[in-house]
Amino acid sequence: MAKTGIIWSDQYIKYNLGEGHPMNPKRLIIPYQLFKSLSLFDLPDFQFFTPSPATDSEILLFHTFNYLKTMKELSKAGKGVQLRLGLGTGDCPVFPEMHEASSLVVGGALEGVKRIQSGDVQQAFALLGGLHHAFAEKATGFCYYNDVVISIKYLQQKYGIERVLYIDTDVHHGDGVLQAFYEDKNVLGVSLHESPRFLFPGTGFTDEIGKGLGLGYTINIPLFPGTWNELYIMTFENIIPCIWEEYDPEFVIWQCGADGHYRDILGHLALTTELYSYLGKRIAELSQDCSAQGRLLLLGGGGYTPDSVARVWLASLVGVTGITIPTDSPSDWIDFCLQKYGIEVNPHLKDPPLDWKKLDGYPFIEEEIIEATQQSINYLKSLLRPVPDWKACEPFFQT
Ligand SMILES: [Zn+2]
Repeated sequence: MAKTGIIWSDQYIKYNLGEGHPMNPKRLIIPYQLFKSLSLFDLPDFQFFTPSPATDSEILLFHTFNYLKTMKELSKAGKGVQLRLGLGTGDCPVFPEMHEASSLVVGGALEGVKRIQSGDVQQAFALLGGLHHAFAEKATGFCYYNDVVISIKYLQQKYGIERVLYIDTDVHHGDGVLQAFYEDKNVLGVSLHESPRFLFPGTGFTDEIGKGLGLGYTINIPLFPGTWNELYIMTFENIIPCIWEEYDPEFVIWQCGADGHYRDILGHLALTTELYSYLGKRIAELSQDCSAQGRLLLLGGGGYTPDSVARVWLASLVGVTGITIPTDSPSDWIDFCLQKYGIEVNPHLKDPPLDWKKLDGYPFIEEEIIEATQQSINYLKSLLRPVPDWKACEPFFQT
């Protein structure tokens, strides 16, 4: 197994947007406790790292000075509103130590980058990270500082990395990251997400494929609500591997948000833990068979049903590392969740096969989802076919 770093800080719980807010510490503590209950940190190939907050100059790799200054001022006051900067909204409330907590998230992603680049580990997983919606001067979608963009810029500037592949499987479009590199071919940004016709942030349509020098280096794959594992895998395998091989990335970042799970409270996809293990395995394989030589950073992203987040992140980790896990959830984890939060977690770590048509909230017709998926794949292939760097994929695109 490849040496794997887990990045965690007890201070992560300060990233608390409110007890009634979907982004609250429960969704972090419950996965962390599951990892602890399974004694993952005692396994010889796992290493545990505690990050330091990112410095101002690291945050300024992406964000503006004005934004950083306002973040600090409001953070100190613990309240206030700056609507032009997206601060003080329902999604992004101002909270005490907002700047410090957000800096620590960036520090966690950078810790992963540094540990991988120094060779301490081959891959790393920062549980709180992948805050992909933040823009240079705007907080949005529960995200204040964009740890992904900063990590990529750090890789480019500190280590001279020329080809970063960013793959985002969060249920929401990775807008802040893809827009930051929209005209840049040094980053191949791929986002698979629930269609913007149905879900925040309303961008990420198939025809958003980059611009100028970056034309063809942004790939958006919107998925119809109710999309289930097999359709997801068909979409992934039709588009991603050929482009991945042609691009030959030197470093891979996977935003592995758990909100595509069928029990998530915000998304409407019908994915199970099995899909995430599959994705982990494939992404690790593809990262191994290219210039990245296995250098892979996982960032936790979204996910707002704590029990699902825990089991999805575990499944992703199982995929990338190949570790085996028991069938049943550990009893001390079940007790912890019940006693501390009154949450009854799933007694099994893996979901059973899902008959999505029997679920509430998926009033969609099977044929319609299959047709929409196939149309989306064909349309994207037709858009990418003229991109010179994907020429080798042309026969693949025409099948
Ligand atoms: Zn999300």
